[in-house]
Amino acid sequence: MADDSRDPSTSEWQAALKHFAIAHDTEHKLWPDWQVKQSQNAFARQGGTPSYDALCAHFGKDKLDTALQGIIQERRAWLKFETQLQGTESPCHVCGLTSALDYYDFGLARIISEERDWKSVGISGALSAVTLPLLGAGALYGPGKNTKGYLLRMRLVICKSCVNKQKNFLGIFYAGEQRCAAHPLWKELHDVGFTKFVSTGDLRNWQ
Ligand SMILES: [Zn+2]
Repeated sequence: MADDSRDPSTSEWQAALKHFAIAHDTEHKLWPDWQVKQSQNAFARQGGTPSYDALCAHFGKDKLDTALQGIIQERRAWLKFETQLQGTESPCHVCGLTSALDYYDFGLARIISEERDWKSVGISGALSAVTLPLLGAGALYGPGKNTKGYLLRMRLVICKSCVNKQKNFLGIFYAGEQRCAAHPLWKELHDVGFTKFVSTGDLRNWQ
């Protein structure tokens, strides 16, 4: 039988190595300050952050480097994805103009379950073990705690000229589902199950 304790690809080691990578990101190139501190503190409670050499001795350099590279690549991919979600440095999602831009927050959620009564099913414990193949996105409860799903926070980028064209008869622009569908990731996310639109106002109901 394979010796799991020396296999860095098990989910336990992946989680530990992720914390290791984060704890060593002292220049905050890939993870924010609070996350680096959180991982460092988690190690501190267990006697300190292990050194790279110590992990090398345990796994062998090749296996360790491959595992760490995987974690870093995944993180880079996530950061790039987040940039797209947030429309950072993006032109207007409707017409492509790069000036006079406005930003509207919204979300798309992939619903795991909509239950009326959680107590009777005791399902939340089992679901906490489910991880989305997108690093950093955890399952959240929606309005009234009856809905559980993965929420991606996004931003519609739209220029003032497009806003003006899309105002209703009261002169109000509403960043609803139809408007937000202009986000370049909209279709791709719908295709993988993120079909529940969460408006700016409803975002705060997700936690
Ligand atoms: Zn525009």
